[in-house]
Amino acid sequence: MGATERDQDGTIAALKKVAAQFAVAVTPHLQAQIDPSDPQDPIARQFLPDAAELVTLPHEREDPIGDTAHSPVAGIVHRYPDRALLKLVNVCPVYCRFCFRREMVGPGSKGLSTEQLDAAIEYIAQHPAIWEVILTGGDPLIVSPRRLKEVIARLNAIPHLGVIRIHSRVPVVDPARITDEMIDALKSSDKAVWLLLHANHAREFVPEAVNAIRKLVGAGVPMLGQSVLLKGINDSPAALTDLFRAMVANRIKPHYLHHGDLARGTSHFRVSLAEGQQLMRRLRGHVSGLLQPTYILDIPGGHGKVPVGPVYAEPQDDGSWQVSDPWGCSHQYDDPATR
Ligand SMILES: *Cc1c(COP(=O)(O)O)cnc(C)c1O
Ligand code: SF4
Repeated sequence: MGATERDQDGTIAALKKVAAQFAVAVTPHLQAQIDPSDPQDPIARQFLPDAAELVTLPHEREDPIGDTAHSPVAGIVHRYPDRALLKLVNVCPVYCRFCFRREMVGPGSKGLSTEQLDAAIEYIAQHPAIWEVILTGGDPLIVSPRRLKEVIARLNAIPHLGVIRIHSRVPVVDPARITDEMIDALKSSDKAVWLLLHANHAREFVPEAVNAIRKLVGAGVPMLGQSVLLKGINDSPAALTDLFRAMVANRIKPHYLHHGDLARGTSHFRVSLAEGQQLMRRLRGHVSGLLQPTYILDIPGGHGKVPVGPVYAEPQDDGSWQVSDPWGCSHQYDDPATR
Protein backbone atom coordinates (compact mmCIF):
# COMPACT_ATOMS: atom_id res chain seq x y z
CA MET A 1 0.00 0.00 0.00
CA GLY A 2 1.47 3.38 -1.00
CA ALA A 3 1.58 6.41 1.28
CA THR A 4 -1.23 8.20 -0.56
CA GLU A 5 -3.50 5.18 -0.38
CA ARG A 6 -2.80 4.88 3.36
CA ASP A 7 -3.61 8.62 3.75
CA GLN A 8 -6.80 8.13 1.82
CA ASP A 9 -7.81 5.17 4.00
CA GLY A 10 -7.07 7.26 7.08
CA THR A 11 -9.17 10.13 5.77
CA ILE A 12 -12.08 7.87 4.91
CA ALA A 13 -11.97 6.27 8.38
CA ALA A 14 -11.94 9.75 9.97
CA LEU A 15 -14.85 10.94 7.85
CA LYS A 16 -16.83 7.85 8.80
CA LYS A 17 -16.24 8.75 12.45
CA VAL A 18 -17.44 12.32 11.78
CA ALA A 19 -20.57 11.03 10.03
CA ALA A 20 -21.28 8.71 12.97
CA GLN A 21 -21.35 11.74 15.31
CA PHE A 22 -22.86 14.51 13.21
CA ALA A 23 -25.40 14.43 10.38
CA VAL A 24 -24.08 14.86 6.82
CA ALA A 25 -26.14 15.85 3.77
CA VAL A 26 -25.49 17.93 0.65
CA THR A 27 -28.20 18.76 -1.89
CA PRO A 28 -27.50 18.00 -5.58
CA HIS A 29 -27.95 21.75 -6.12
CA LEU A 30 -24.97 22.52 -3.87
CA GLN A 31 -22.96 19.52 -5.00
CA ALA A 32 -23.04 20.98 -8.52
CA GLN A 33 -21.46 24.20 -7.29
CA ILE A 34 -18.43 22.70 -5.58
CA ASP A 35 -15.17 23.27 -7.40
CA PRO A 36 -13.23 20.05 -6.64
CA SER A 37 -9.93 21.64 -7.70
CA ASP A 38 -10.17 24.25 -4.92
CA PRO A 39 -9.30 22.81 -1.48
CA GLN A 40 -10.71 25.98 0.12
CA ASP A 41 -13.96 26.00 -1.86
CA PRO A 42 -16.41 27.93 0.35
CA ILE A 43 -19.33 25.65 -0.51
CA ALA A 44 -17.38 22.45 0.14
CA ARG A 45 -15.97 23.79 3.42
CA GLN A 46 -19.44 24.67 4.71
CA PHE A 47 -21.09 21.35 3.92
CA LEU A 48 -18.58 18.51 3.38
CA PRO A 49 -17.40 16.76 6.56
CA ASP A 50 -13.83 17.31 7.71
CA ALA A 51 -11.65 15.23 10.04
CA ALA A 52 -11.05 18.42 12.06
CA GLU A 53 -14.60 17.96 13.45
CA LEU A 54 -13.30 15.09 15.59
CA VAL A 55 -11.41 17.62 17.73
CA THR A 56 -13.47 18.79 20.70
CA LEU A 57 -11.94 21.59 22.78
CA PRO A 58 -12.69 21.86 26.53
CA HIS A 59 -14.85 25.00 26.20
CA GLU A 60 -17.06 23.48 23.49
CA ARG A 61 -20.56 22.38 24.52
CA GLU A 62 -23.34 20.09 23.39
CA ASP A 63 -25.93 22.84 23.83
CA PRO A 64 -23.90 26.00 23.18
CA ILE A 65 -26.77 28.50 23.45
CA GLY A 66 -28.74 26.76 26.22
CA ASP A 67 -31.85 25.78 24.25
CA THR A 68 -32.76 22.95 26.65
CA ALA A 69 -32.76 25.21 29.73
CA HIS A 70 -35.49 27.37 28.15
CA SER A 71 -37.74 24.70 26.66
CA PRO A 72 -41.03 24.55 28.64
CA VAL A 73 -42.63 22.02 26.24
CA ALA A 74 -41.25 19.99 23.34
CA GLY A 75 -40.58 22.15 20.27
CA ILE A 76 -40.71 25.51 22.12
CA VAL A 77 -37.72 27.57 23.26
CA HIS A 78 -38.88 30.62 25.22
CA ARG A 79 -35.96 32.71 26.39
CA TYR A 80 -37.17 36.26 25.71
CA PRO A 81 -40.64 37.35 26.87
CA ASP A 82 -41.99 38.63 23.54
CA ARG A 83 -40.82 35.86 21.20
CA ALA A 84 -40.53 32.10 21.16
CA LEU A 85 -38.97 29.54 18.86
CA LEU A 86 -41.18 26.82 17.44
CA LYS A 87 -39.05 23.95 16.15
CA LEU A 88 -41.29 22.04 13.77
CA VAL A 89 -38.63 19.65 12.52
CA ASN A 90 -35.09 18.70 13.40
CA VAL A 91 -33.99 17.98 9.84
CA CYS A 92 -32.35 20.18 7.20
CA PRO A 93 -31.74 19.69 3.47
CA VAL A 94 -28.01 20.17 4.20
CA TYR A 95 -26.01 20.05 7.41
CA CYS A 96 -23.70 22.98 7.98
CA ARG A 97 -20.47 21.72 9.52
CA PHE A 98 -20.51 24.58 12.08
CA CYS A 99 -24.19 24.15 13.06
CA PHE A 100 -24.90 25.40 16.61
CA ARG A 101 -27.66 22.76 16.99
CA ARG A 102 -25.59 19.92 15.51
CA GLU A 103 -26.28 17.67 18.50
CA MET A 104 -30.04 18.03 17.96
CA VAL A 105 -30.53 18.08 14.20
CA GLY A 106 -30.17 15.14 11.85
CA PRO A 107 -32.16 12.53 9.97
CA GLY A 108 -32.37 10.32 13.10
CA SER A 109 -34.03 12.97 15.27
CA LYS A 110 -37.80 13.17 15.39
CA GLY A 111 -39.86 16.20 14.49
CA LEU A 112 -42.87 17.11 16.61
CA SER A 113 -45.67 14.55 16.84
CA THR A 114 -49.25 15.77 16.29
CA GLU A 115 -49.81 15.87 20.08
CA GLN A 116 -46.54 17.72 20.67
CA LEU A 117 -47.38 20.29 18.00
CA ASP A 118 -50.82 20.77 19.60
CA ALA A 119 -49.16 21.30 22.99
CA ALA A 120 -46.58 23.73 21.54
CA ILE A 121 -49.25 25.83 19.82
CA GLU A 122 -51.34 25.72 23.00
CA TYR A 123 -48.32 27.05 24.94
CA ILE A 124 -48.09 30.02 22.54
CA ALA A 125 -51.85 30.62 22.77
CA GLN A 126 -51.67 30.61 26.59
CA HIS A 127 -48.86 33.20 26.72
CA PRO A 128 -50.18 36.58 25.58
CA ALA A 129 -46.74 38.17 26.02
CA ILE A 130 -45.54 36.20 22.98
CA TRP A 131 -45.83 38.62 20.07
CA GLU A 132 -43.60 36.79 17.61
CA VAL A 133 -43.16 33.11 16.75
CA ILE A 134 -39.92 32.06 15.09
CA LEU A 135 -40.18 28.87 13.05
CA THR A 136 -36.77 27.29 13.13
CA GLY A 137 -35.33 23.84 13.62
CA GLY A 138 -34.06 22.22 11.64
CA ASP A 139 -35.17 24.07 8.54
CA PRO A 140 -38.92 24.81 8.58
CA LEU A 141 -39.09 25.15 4.78
CA ILE A 142 -38.28 21.45 4.44
CA VAL A 143 -41.89 20.61 5.40
CA SER A 144 -44.51 20.35 2.67
CA PRO A 145 -46.32 23.56 1.68
CA ARG A 146 -49.56 21.93 2.84
CA ARG A 147 -48.21 21.29 6.36
CA LEU A 148 -46.63 24.75 6.54
CA LYS A 149 -49.91 26.34 5.51
CA GLU A 150 -51.72 24.43 8.29
CA VAL A 151 -49.24 25.59 10.92
CA ILE A 152 -49.42 29.18 9.66
CA ALA A 153 -53.24 29.03 9.80
CA ARG A 154 -53.11 27.88 13.43
CA LEU A 155 -50.67 30.64 14.36
CA ASN A 156 -52.74 33.16 12.42
CA ALA A 157 -55.68 32.33 14.69
CA ILE A 158 -53.79 33.44 17.84
CA PRO A 159 -54.81 37.10 18.33
CA HIS A 160 -51.80 38.28 20.36
CA LEU A 161 -49.29 37.20 17.70
CA GLY A 162 -48.10 40.07 15.51
CA VAL A 163 -45.43 38.40 13.42
CA ILE A 164 -44.41 34.97 12.16
CA ARG A 165 -40.70 34.73 11.44
CA ILE A 166 -39.11 31.87 9.51
CA HIS A 167 -35.40 31.07 9.73
CA SER A 168 -34.31 29.14 6.63
CA ARG A 169 -31.42 28.24 4.41
CA VAL A 170 -33.65 26.61 1.75
CA PRO A 171 -33.70 29.47 -0.82
CA VAL A 172 -29.93 29.08 -1.32
CA VAL A 173 -29.35 25.38 -0.57
CA ASP A 174 -32.43 23.86 -2.20
CA PRO A 175 -34.14 26.62 -4.22
CA ALA A 176 -36.43 24.16 -6.05
CA ARG A 177 -38.44 23.90 -2.81
CA ILE A 178 -39.62 27.50 -3.27
CA THR A 179 -42.57 26.46 -5.41
CA ASP A 180 -45.76 28.41 -6.10
CA GLU A 181 -47.45 26.28 -3.41
CA MET A 182 -44.78 27.29 -0.90
CA ILE A 183 -45.23 30.97 -1.81
CA ASP A 184 -48.98 30.50 -1.45
CA ALA A 185 -48.49 29.02 2.05
CA LEU A 186 -46.27 31.94 3.08
CA LYS A 187 -48.80 34.46 1.78
CA SER A 188 -51.72 32.76 3.52
CA SER A 189 -51.45 34.68 6.81
CA ASP A 190 -52.92 38.08 7.71
CA LYS A 191 -49.92 38.52 9.94
CA ALA A 192 -46.59 39.57 8.50
CA VAL A 193 -44.41 36.58 7.64
CA TRP A 194 -40.73 37.55 7.67
CA LEU A 195 -38.05 35.29 6.21
CA LEU A 196 -34.53 35.31 7.63
CA LEU A 197 -32.17 33.73 5.13
CA HIS A 198 -29.02 32.07 6.47
CA ALA A 199 -26.22 32.53 3.90
CA ASN A 200 -22.48 32.88 4.42
CA HIS A 201 -20.85 33.37 1.03
CA ALA A 202 -21.62 35.27 -2.18
CA ARG A 203 -21.16 32.01 -4.13
CA GLU A 204 -24.46 30.79 -2.62
CA PHE A 205 -26.33 33.35 -4.74
CA VAL A 206 -26.42 31.43 -8.05
CA PRO A 207 -29.22 32.08 -10.57
CA GLU A 208 -31.58 29.37 -9.16
CA ALA A 209 -31.22 30.86 -5.67
CA VAL A 210 -31.68 34.40 -6.99
CA ASN A 211 -34.90 33.30 -8.72
CA ALA A 212 -36.24 31.72 -5.53
CA ILE A 213 -35.47 34.92 -3.60
CA ARG A 214 -37.11 37.03 -6.32
CA LYS A 215 -40.28 34.92 -5.98
CA LEU A 216 -40.32 35.37 -2.22
CA VAL A 217 -39.65 39.10 -2.17
CA GLY A 218 -41.97 39.57 -5.14
CA ALA A 219 -44.73 37.89 -3.14
CA GLY A 220 -44.32 40.53 -0.43
CA VAL A 221 -42.27 38.44 2.02
CA PRO A 222 -39.73 40.80 3.64
CA MET A 223 -36.29 39.18 3.85
CA LEU A 224 -33.36 39.72 6.19
CA GLY A 225 -29.98 38.02 6.07
CA GLN A 226 -28.15 36.26 8.85
CA SER A 227 -24.62 34.95 8.52
CA VAL A 228 -22.04 33.21 10.65
CA LEU A 229 -18.49 34.56 10.69
CA LEU A 230 -16.40 31.59 9.53
CA LYS A 231 -12.64 31.26 9.27
CA GLY A 232 -11.44 30.72 5.72
CA ILE A 233 -14.95 31.24 4.31
CA ASN A 234 -15.96 34.84 4.95
CA ASP A 235 -13.44 36.29 7.42
CA SER A 236 -12.09 38.96 5.05
CA PRO A 237 -13.38 42.43 4.14
CA ALA A 238 -13.72 41.34 0.49
CA ALA A 239 -15.71 38.17 1.27
CA LEU A 240 -18.07 40.00 3.65
CA THR A 241 -18.53 42.86 1.18
CA ASP A 242 -19.36 40.43 -1.64
CA LEU A 243 -21.75 38.47 0.61
CA PHE A 244 -23.65 41.52 1.89
CA ARG A 245 -23.73 43.09 -1.58
CA ALA A 246 -25.25 39.87 -2.95
CA MET A 247 -27.91 40.10 -0.24
CA VAL A 248 -28.74 43.78 -0.73
CA ALA A 249 -28.73 43.47 -4.54
CA ASN A 250 -31.37 40.77 -4.04
CA ARG A 251 -33.44 42.94 -1.68
CA ILE A 252 -32.28 41.20 1.50
CA LYS A 253 -31.08 43.40 4.36
CA PRO A 254 -28.06 41.91 6.21
CA HIS A 255 -29.34 41.72 9.79
CA TYR A 256 -27.04 39.68 12.06
CA LEU A 257 -23.46 38.54 11.65
CA HIS A 258 -23.15 35.81 14.27
CA HIS A 259 -19.92 35.15 16.11
CA GLY A 260 -19.51 31.36 15.88
CA ASP A 261 -21.10 29.39 18.73
CA LEU A 262 -19.04 26.96 20.81
CA ALA A 263 -20.46 23.80 19.23
CA ARG A 264 -18.35 20.65 19.48
CA GLY A 265 -15.83 20.05 16.70
CA THR A 266 -16.05 23.54 15.17
CA SER A 267 -12.75 25.11 16.30
CA HIS A 268 -11.37 25.13 12.73
CA PHE A 269 -14.06 27.69 11.84
CA ARG A 270 -13.43 29.99 14.80
CA VAL A 271 -12.50 33.67 14.38
CA SER A 272 -11.56 35.80 17.43
CA LEU A 273 -13.89 38.54 18.68
CA ALA A 274 -11.12 41.08 18.08
CA GLU A 275 -10.82 39.99 14.43
CA GLY A 276 -14.61 40.12 14.08
CA GLN A 277 -14.68 43.68 15.38
CA GLN A 278 -11.83 44.65 13.06
CA LEU A 279 -13.79 43.27 10.08
CA MET A 280 -16.89 45.22 11.13
CA ARG A 281 -14.77 48.40 11.38
CA ARG A 282 -13.50 47.78 7.87
CA LEU A 283 -17.06 47.64 6.51
CA ARG A 284 -18.23 50.81 8.25
CA GLY A 285 -17.41 53.81 6.08
CA HIS A 286 -16.01 51.70 3.24
CA VAL A 287 -19.26 50.16 1.99
CA SER A 288 -22.93 51.20 1.99
CA GLY A 289 -24.77 51.50 5.28
CA LEU A 290 -27.31 49.04 3.86
CA LEU A 291 -24.61 46.37 4.04
CA GLN A 292 -23.95 46.69 7.78
CA PRO A 293 -25.30 43.85 9.96
CA THR A 294 -25.10 43.84 13.76
CA TYR A 295 -22.26 41.68 15.02
CA ILE A 296 -23.84 39.31 17.58
CA LEU A 297 -22.62 36.94 20.28
CA ASP A 298 -25.06 34.43 21.74
CA ILE A 299 -23.60 34.25 25.25
CA PRO A 300 -22.80 30.57 25.97
CA GLY A 301 -25.13 28.97 28.50
CA GLY A 302 -28.36 30.57 27.30
CA HIS A 303 -27.74 34.13 28.50
CA GLY A 304 -29.01 35.72 25.29
CA LYS A 305 -27.79 37.48 22.16
CA VAL A 306 -25.97 40.79 22.41
CA PRO A 307 -24.14 43.08 19.97
CA VAL A 308 -20.39 42.82 20.49
CA GLY A 309 -19.14 45.97 18.91
CA PRO A 310 -17.07 47.49 17.74
CA VAL A 311 -17.69 50.47 20.04
CA TYR A 312 -17.17 53.88 18.47
CA ALA A 313 -18.02 56.23 21.36
CA GLU A 314 -16.37 56.10 24.78
CA PRO A 315 -17.09 58.37 27.73
CA GLN A 316 -14.14 60.37 29.14
CA ASP A 317 -13.50 61.43 32.74
CA ASP A 318 -14.24 65.09 31.88
CA GLY A 319 -17.78 64.21 30.72
CA SER A 320 -17.01 64.43 27.01
CA TRP A 321 -16.91 61.52 24.55
CA GLN A 322 -14.10 60.16 22.41
CA VAL A 323 -15.64 59.07 19.11
CA SER A 324 -13.64 57.28 16.43
CA ASP A 325 -14.47 57.87 12.78
CA PRO A 326 -14.68 55.05 10.21
CA TRP A 327 -11.02 55.58 9.30
CA GLY A 328 -9.76 55.18 12.86
CA CYS A 329 -9.19 58.84 13.88
CA SER A 330 -10.51 59.97 17.26
CA HIS A 331 -12.66 63.05 17.77
CA GLN A 332 -13.94 64.70 20.91
CA TYR A 333 -17.72 65.11 21.19
CA ASP A 334 -19.07 67.45 23.89
CA ASP A 335 -22.60 66.25 24.42
CA PRO A 336 -24.71 69.44 24.62
CA ALA A 337 -27.58 67.52 26.27
CA THR A 338 -25.44 66.85 29.38
CA ARG A 339 -23.90 70.34 29.68
C1 LIG B 1 -31.96 33.83 18.64
C2 LIG B 1 -33.15 33.59 19.44
C3 LIG B 1 -34.28 34.41 19.30
C4 LIG B 1 -34.33 35.55 18.32
O1 LIG B 1 -33.61 36.64 18.80
P1 LIG B 1 -33.57 37.97 17.91
O2 LIG B 1 -32.51 38.80 18.55
O3 LIG B 1 -34.93 38.58 17.99
O4 LIG B 1 -33.24 37.54 16.53
C5 LIG B 1 -35.38 34.14 20.08
N1 LIG B 1 -35.37 33.13 20.96
C6 LIG B 1 -34.30 32.33 21.13
C7 LIG B 1 -34.37 31.23 22.12
C8 LIG B 1 -33.15 32.53 20.37
O5 LIG B 1 -32.10 31.72 20.50
S1 SF4 C 1 -29.45 25.01 8.28
FE1 SF4 C 1 -29.31 25.79 10.39
S2 SF4 C 1 -30.06 24.11 11.71
FE2 SF4 C 1 -29.64 23.23 9.66
S3 SF4 C 1 -27.51 22.47 9.79
FE3 SF4 C 1 -27.37 24.58 9.00
S4 SF4 C 1 -27.08 25.88 10.83
FE4 SF4 C 1 -27.86 23.86 11.55
